Amino acid sequence: MSKVAQYLQEHVTGEVMSSVDARRYFSTDGSIFSVIPSLVVYPRSENDVRKIARFTWQLAERGRVVPMTARGAGTDQGGAALGEGLMLVFPAHLNRVVEYNAKTGVVNVEPGINYGKLQQTLKTHGRFLPPFPSSIEYSTIGGAVANNASGEKSVKYGDTRQYVRGLRVVLANGEVIETGRISKRELNKKLGLSTFEGEIYRSLDALLEENKQLVESIKFKVSKNSAGYDIWDIKRKDGSFDLTPLFVGSQGTLGVITEIMLDTEIFHPETHLILAEFDTVKQAEEAAVELRAMKEQPSAIEMVDGQLLTLVEELNPNLLKDMIKKPFPAVAMLVEFDDGNERSQKKNARRAVKILEKHARSHQMETTMAKQEMLWKIRHSSAAIIAHSEGNSKALPIIEDGIVPLDKFDEYLTEVYAMFKRYGLRVAVWGHAGDANIHLQPFLDLSQIGDRQKAFRLVDEYYDLVLSLGGSTSGEHNDGRLRGPYLSKMFGPELYEVFQKVKQIFDPYGALNPGVKINVTLNDIKPLVRSSYSLEHLYDHMPRS
Ligand SMILES: Cc1cc2nc3c(=O)[nH]c(=O)nc-3n(C[C@H](O)[C@H](O)[C@H](O)COP(=O)(O)OP(=O)(O)OC[C@H]3O[C@@H](n4cnc5c(N)ncnc54)[C@H](O)[C@@H]3O)c2cc1C
Repeated sequence: MSKVAQYLQEHVTGEVMSSVDARRYFSTDGSIFSVIPSLVVYPRSENDVRKIARFTWQLAERGRVVPMTARGAGTDQGGAALGEGLMLVFPAHLNRVVEYNAKTGVVNVEPGINYGKLQQTLKTHGRFLPPFPSSIEYSTIGGAVANNASGEKSVKYGDTRQYVRGLRVVLANGEVIETGRISKRELNKKLGLSTFEGEIYRSLDALLEENKQLVESIKFKVSKNSAGYDIWDIKRKDGSFDLTPLFVGSQGTLGVITEIMLDTEIFHPETHLILAEFDTVKQAEEAAVELRAMKEQPSAIEMVDGQLLTLVEELNPNLLKDMIKKPFPAVAMLVEFDDGNERSQKKNARRAVKILEKHARSHQMETTMAKQEMLWKIRHSSAAIIAHSEGNSKALPIIEDGIVPLDKFDEYLTEVYAMFKRYGLRVAVWGHAGDANIHLQPFLDLSQIGDRQKAFRLVDEYYDLVLSLGGSTSGEHNDGRLRGPYLSKMFGPELYEVFQKVKQIFDPYGALNPGVKINVTLNDIKPLVRSSYSLEHLYDHMPRS
């Protein structure tokens, strides 16, 4: 056992493992990459995390940087849950609901809690967390916060960031901080602290002041974004300050989260659900634009394309039998309303039908849960693609999360179809039509050099396309290793430099999840591509996407 392992074994209460099989198990996540950690640690308490961080900080001060990666369920599709140093695995012990306030619906949780279990618990109280990802059954809340995850309800409710009120975070040197919005006066107190926390507040405040104009000049054209660091809502005009939005979506590169305080919403199980079929993507785009302009937004505007329906029919003819007639539509869209007031829900659904009548070739509204479940199967049939292999070719998550402005949806999909044609690849598209945030995973064989090269050519061309349309490389899955190299292109070199300075402020020795999101190039990640892709550590559930 190495000296580091021995030290940690003696000083933390959680387990420390250096066995080959444990390290191999944690060498993959939901991405195409593989990185073997040197040690696996299952922290049992926040104090364990503090001790580990303090120890790595002391080593770094003496010139030896031991990377530290926090990990939830390892479903990340960009390689952010991988690292070559210490792998801190949270679901084993730090997986509890700490406190639930029935009056406010605010819940405090540890990061390793399974998202699906938390959701079930909240629903027993008549509440829920709306920005859940489709990986809800097998991912953690810590991963969702660190990725700023979102999903099918985000068109109405927004992303995870909007639900995180505050955090407890272990900083790179082992200090623990609590985040939440603080007033100008409270900020002044923080600025005077002689600790690392004080240093962070001082440096970050100065950085934001110096780059105020630059930061304000960058305006997003997309409805949601998980790429980059969120530096837009740290300091507000009233002088108040909050590190929470920055930590959300930072993928463990600025600190390790040990507790999360979340707002929740009232859960309305009864909904109106409409299936609409469109002959062209343009018609679907026009309908989506009008639906989004409604005063009361639909709680979901989801889609699959005709090519996905064809592929699903080939793979599993019974899955969608009799649910959608042939010829398949260019787009099948699901529109849901979940307003608490039954009458207004009905009224809004009728308004949506009027919109859909203008653009869709057919539509069908369902109000009973059994029928709705059948319709949702259409959207969730994308799971069949993810789990499928064609020989050694697997559906790879390499360009799986682009997002563009909604009025560019048709142009976007037209270009995507043309691109796949040029590459001689089949394409199937599904996702969040209301956000123009689509998922697609090309079938490629990672054991073949030709396919690996093709994958990176496709990646390059695809992200260029997304950015040329004013989009983001990631609507919800975040940067990880895969999309980190495109951040400078997306935000521009000047803002990228600000991101680098943010990273430097929080992590001066570069020990917190290095190689993820920031300071990563295509040359860094190409050697990390595995020779075959699988989601084997997730198969206790059928992966849904
Ligand atoms: C089939 C499939 C479907 C998916 N669908 C969606 C979707 O609909 N929407 C969506 O947003 N994502 C989706 N994802 C991506 C991923 O599942 C989610 O982002 C999920 O929230 C990640 O949770 P996790 O527990 O697996 O985190 P991990 O993969 O373990 O980690 C993700 C990131 O969080 C960091 N992290 C974890 N815990 C901590 C902590 N305590 N402190 C600091 N950092 C931490 C990790 O270092 C890593 O950077 C999907 C993935 C798959 C495989």
